[in-house]
Order: sequence, then structure tokens, then C-alpha cells
Amino acid sequence: MIYFDHNATTPIDDRVLEAMLPFLTSFYGNPSSLYRHGRIVRSAIDTAREQVAALVDAPLSQVIFTSGGTESNNLALAILPAQGRLAISAIEHPSITEPALRLKQLGSTLNIINVDGNGLVTETAIEDLINKKPDLVSIMMANNETGVIQNLAPCVQKLRANNIIVHTDAVQALGKIPVSFNRLGVHLMSLSSHKIYGPKGCGALLFEKGLEINPVFRGGGQEQGLRAGTENVAAIVGFGKAAELAKTELTNRSKQLLALRTLLEAHLATIPGLTIFARQANRLPNTIQFGIPGIDGEMLLMKLDQKAIAVSSGSACASGGRIPSPILIAMGVEAGLAKGAIRISLGMANTEIEVLEFINQLKALAYQA
Ligand code: PLP
Repeated sequence: MIYFDHNATTPIDDRVLEAMLPFLTSFYGNPSSLYRHGRIVRSAIDTAREQVAALVDAPLSQVIFTSGGTESNNLALAILPAQGRLAISAIEHPSITEPALRLKQLGSTLNIINVDGNGLVTETAIEDLINKKPDLVSIMMANNETGVIQNLAPCVQKLRANNIIVHTDAVQALGKIPVSFNRLGVHLMSLSSHKIYGPKGCGALLFEKGLEINPVFRGGGQEQGLRAGTENVAAIVGFGKAAELAKTELTNRSKQLLALRTLLEAHLATIPGLTIFARQANRLPNTIQFGIPGIDGEMLLMKLDQKAIAVSSGSACASGGRIPSPILIAMGVEAGLAKGAIRISLGMANTEIEVLEFINQLKALAYQA
């Protein structure tokens, strides 16, 4: 199989699996237990917290382990006071948009921050937003579909200067570009393990000291009482190891991915009418989203699947047919072209041969579609 869907999930790195296995077998103690068998496990969680904190340049005490990016995003938005004012960008993941809509139903105000043709939140949009005096603003660091990386720092500075709490979903940025919680200055940041060659069902929320987190899960003292429940120890250990590897290998990984992406883009450019979305924008080194006029993305995905090539389409199933990607629509992409969107997200095991094979298959299938 040619696997080109690493923004959906990544395979577990062998070194990560090796680090996890003892915590699924010999070291099964409860980290809250006071005897030695429990303390060994507690110490493994402490190490993982150090590894994750080091990857994102954050203080140890400000890392809460969660079940993944979705929980971290929900936990971040839960700090909004009742009937508070929330603003999110128009290109957020459903794990932000859906809880945001729920908060609106419950009486909060929700502002959607528009993006430009490259999917970027502009500084003008931020200035307009500040006049609306939101309590909390959530803007993702890098988009899961287009790979576009926001120019977040100046936006965060402006929002902070106006006493507005800022959250960023850094799930897709992590392990692909440098991420510094301290330098960026956001109040809250969401991370996920399974996008960086770690196990699924594990992530973290970083929070600034002094910020009042409103726990979603209560009933235990774990994670400073901010996320109750016996820890998913093996997954946390795996996330830590994956973070350690991502930190030491970041430069090489992004160089390798960018070289493959460049090769793929050069070949895609030879397909008549093909548009690479936000091509000129600063994007993740592994991500390309494109559309071909008159071609249905879902059909193409299924045909590629028959050739054992795994990619993702931008559109989603809805009653009454397929709806185009809201992200592309927010960027002003025409609905027909957006419905045809295909996303390729490369990973560390992909090769030039796979890229060339994909291009051959794509050309053959696109023209017979
Ligand atoms: N945020 C973004 C940008 C994502 O791409 C994803 C997953 O695709 C999530 C959040 C959710 O993360 P998880 O799968 O760990 O719940």
C-alpha cells in the first residue's frame, strides 16, 4: 500500500512501540499507588511530560495529558465563562467548531474570523475582532487539509495586549515545524500523539499558569485535578517517546518531507487544470491539497484505493449529497472544485518511487473519470 494520509494518522514508530511495551506488560501498576510498583509508573509519566514539554518549549507543570487533540480542544474551549464571547477562525477542525456551536446554543456569542484566499487570518481581521471584545479566541497553527501555517505571532501579540485569551490547535503543526509555547505566548495549546508517530488516544493541553481550567472530567486528582481518570500510561509513555524523537529529528524530517512534496508538486503541475490550493502560502512540508476541474474527489479517492493508494478527500458526506470542504469554501474556492479536493499528506516512510507511482495512477484515473 502507498499510504499518503499522515495528517489523518501516522503509523507508530518502532522505537515508540518498544518504549510502550513494558507498560502494557510488566509495569501495570496504577500511577496513583504509593508503593514502588506504582511509583515506577508515575516516574514514566513524569518522563513523558518532560519529553512533550521539551518538544514545545513549555514548563512541565503546564502540560495536561488528555485522550487526544479532540479532548484538548474541548477542554480549552471549556474555559469560556457562561454567556461568554468566543471567536474561532473559519478553518478550524470540527473538534473546535462543534463545541463552539454548542457553546453558542447555550448562550455564548460566537464570532467566526474570516480568512483570505490562502486560508490566512489577516491582521485586519484581528483588529476588527478586538473591537468585539471576545473573551477567548481560537486559531489553529496549521491547517489539516491545506497545510497552511498561520502567521500567529503578531495576532497573538495584539490579542494578548487586549487581555484576550488565545488558544491554538497545534495538532498538525507538531513534529512538522518548530513549535514554542513560550515564544508564541498563547494561553492554551492542543497537541495530539498519533500525528507524530505516537499511539492514538493520547494528547495534551498546555496552559498558562494562573489560567482557570474548567475540567471536563472530574472525580480524581490526576493531572493536577484538571483531567480526572487513571492515566493511559502506555500511550502517554509512547507520546513522550514520539515527542523526544520528533524533537531530535525535526530538521531532517521536514527536509525529507519537503523534498518529496516538491517532487510531487512539480509532477502535479503538469496535469492540465489542476490547482494546488494555497500553493504560494507557507505550508507544512508534508501536505498538498489539490483539485481537478470536473473530477469528483470521492470517486478519485475510491479508484486510488482500488490501486492500494490511500489519500483523503476534502468533502464530507451529508444528507442530500456531498458537501465541499468548509475550509476551501472559506478560502473562496469555487464549490465544484472544492468538492473534487484530494489531500496528500506525506510521511517519513514515503519514497520518490511511491510519488512517481501515484502520479502515474492519478493521470490514468483522472483522464478516464
Ligand atoms: N485538530 C486537528 C487540526 C486535527 O487535524 C485533528 C485530527 O485530525 C484533531 C484536532 C483531533 O485530534 P485527535 O484525533 O487526537 O482527537
